[in-house]
Amino acid sequence: MNKLVSIVIPVCNEEKGIKKFLDERLFVAISKIKEYDFEIVLVNDGSKDKTLEILQEYAAKNKNVKVVSLVRNFGKEMALSAGLRYADGDAVLTIDSDGQQPPEKIEDFIKAWEDGAEIVTGVRDHYTKHGLIPKLGSKLFYRILRMMGNKTTVPGSTDFRLMDRIVVNEFNKLTEHNRITRGLVDWMGYETKIIYYTYGERMAGRPSYNISKLFNLAIDSFVSMSSTPLVIFGYIGLFITFGSFILGMFCIINQYILGDPLHLYWNGAVQMAIFITFLVGLVLISQSITALYISHIHAETQNRPLFIVSKKASRNIKDPCKTEQKK
Ligand code: UDP
Ligand code: MG
Repeated sequence: MNKLVSIVIPVCNEEKGIKKFLDERLFVAISKIKEYDFEIVLVNDGSKDKTLEILQEYAAKNKNVKVVSLVRNFGKEMALSAGLRYADGDAVLTIDSDGQQPPEKIEDFIKAWEDGAEIVTGVRDHYTKHGLIPKLGSKLFYRILRMMGNKTTVPGSTDFRLMDRIVVNEFNKLTEHNRITRGLVDWMGYETKIIYYTYGERMAGRPSYNISKLFNLAIDSFVSMSSTPLVIFGYIGLFITFGSFILGMFCIINQYILGDPLHLYWNGAVQMAIFITFLVGLVLISQSITALYISHIHAETQNRPLFIVSKKASRNIKDPCKTEQKK
């Protein structure tokens, strides 16, 4: 029996490009790989257009195509998590449905897996991201991530990734709600190989991630993956205290010992204002950070289901409520 490779694809409002992607790219690419069986897990992430119908047509024609349909838009991270739950393969590969991640590379991913890698990560060519802000933003993102102690994430890592069954089983056990898939996978620390690829153009439609969504995603990555923000603001606090101490000393020496040779004429009110401004800044910063952490604790304790699968719209999946894992 051939090994089974699952291909998990999150799909949201892709009616214009999904057929082209599946027919002209994905199916062509995997039909060239004869030594494996494939199953395609299409996760419909609450599409508002004809996407779901198109996906269901594929499932009707092909028993190896599963459709997992979420009842509303839960975001790509949750869609990926849902797909990983329902994938049965010995290895599971995740890929975007817009053609920006080349399915032609899947063969290389499988080879790397057969060579022993438990995770194969696709790293995109950084500079193909369009627009100045996304470009700079993504550079900054990885720089900050590294600064924050996450040394395992290679800059340009994407969700174009293959995971061994063992990794997927472990991933499925994670229950946190603020999840960045690539961060969590890197965090697990399995043996990882890297495959470089060129990030292509979208085949059709528009990217659904705008600047503010990406910004939120970045903030989530930082806060959910490390507690370094606390440490950083601790340093800022120290810096401010130290700075204000120096300024205070300068003020005292200049005014009361040297008799104000610089003619600054700082009176008590000015001194107090400087001092209080610093303290207020300090308190605000520490408060907002604490609030951020509390909000995350809040989200974790709510313990909502990660996603809700529509029993009616899903196809070829065994039990929409299944909780146990494939061994
Ligand atoms: N996607 C999704 N849910 C969303 C947004 C996007 O499942 O809420 C899917 C989308 O259909 C695509 C992939 O995630 O397959 C990547 O989305 P997009 O191209 O918009 O993002 P980018 O390429 O900028 O990362
Ligand atoms: Mg895209």
